[in-house]
Amino acid sequence: MRISICKVCNEPAPLYGVTDFNKSCEERRGRYLPLTGVPVYYHRCDSCGLIFTSASGLLSSPVCNRDRVIEVESISVDGS
Ligand SMILES: [Zn+2]
Repeated sequence: MRISICKVCNEPAPLYGVTDFNKSCEERRGRYLPLTGVPVYYHRCDSCGLIFTSASGLLSSPVCNRDRVIEVESISVDGS
């Protein structure tokens, strides 16, 4: 299992799920982007419950802001 480290409390955060890089909050409005086939893995902290992505290697691309969208959207869905 892929384990990452929580960005908030530095506790282990096991793999929690995976989504396509093109997933965005616009899907709530019925606007879907074509799938890229690039997986974005996200992790959930065992200690504080933070959900975050570990796709920092993709942040240099022009569409890097979508990573943050996924991160924020996941937290709100989790009810945190
Ligand atoms: Zn944490």
